[in-house]
Amino acid sequence: MLLMVEHCYNNLTGEEIKSLDRSNTIIVLPVGSIEQHGPHLPVDTDTLTAVHVAQRLAETMRTFKLIITPPFRYTYAKPALVYPGTLSIEGETLIKLTRDAMRGFIEQGFKKILVINAHMENTDFMIEGISLALKNADAVKLVLANWWELVDEKDLKEIFGPDWRGWVDEHAALVETSLMMHIAPEFVREEKITDDRRKSKFEFRIFPWDIANYPNSGTFAPIRGAGPEKGKKLTELVVKEMGNLIEKEFSK
Ligand SMILES: [Zn+2]
Repeated sequence: MLLMVEHCYNNLTGEEIKSLDRSNTIIVLPVGSIEQHGPHLPVDTDTLTAVHVAQRLAETMRTFKLIITPPFRYTYAKPALVYPGTLSIEGETLIKLTRDAMRGFIEQGFKKILVINAHMENTDFMIEGISLALKNADAVKLVLANWWELVDEKDLKEIFGPDWRGWVDEHAALVETSLMMHIAPEFVREEKITDDRRKSKFEFRIFPWDIANYPNSGTFAPIRGAGPEKGKKLTELVVKEMGNLIEKEFSK
């Protein structure tokens, strides 16, 4: 899906950005990762998810005009460095990157900022960066939305049925595979899908990080039951819930 030019910050001219009405423009930053997602999904999975949700929101939102900035791809993914393909920056770097990007939006006069995050390990570093940027900012409203926190267990059980096993095991598994089958089916290597699962609930908390403690495939729960229709339903639900959140928080 191609993003309409008028919603894409980096395709606008400086003059066009200057003329955006600050009272009803929301600056949107999608945040992902470059992280292994099993043998069947690309390392760009989280970024593709965040950008897709941002695009669908921008197309459907009527109350506000959404302007999507270039996403964060280089983020914090250290636990997954035991797998090939993962790239990570230091947590401290992500704090400063977040702080400086937010300061940039604020310096450009934007008052409404939405961060759509699709990679859990980024959360605390981003909260710190946002806190630093907002310290002396005047009348700025900012929402950090982890997309998976916008859907509840009831909805997930409805979409995925008995295959849904909870967020603890969800990495490159039922949910993310379904999302990619809908968002970017051309990137899903269906013949590589495994039935692997995580070995213990403590694996991320054992140092030094050792590949022996992780599932071989890099997928943490069974993928059985994944499908594009389920990915579409979930995407639509997330976009709807995020739309409600925006209406509520940015109308105040
Ligand atoms: Zn992911």
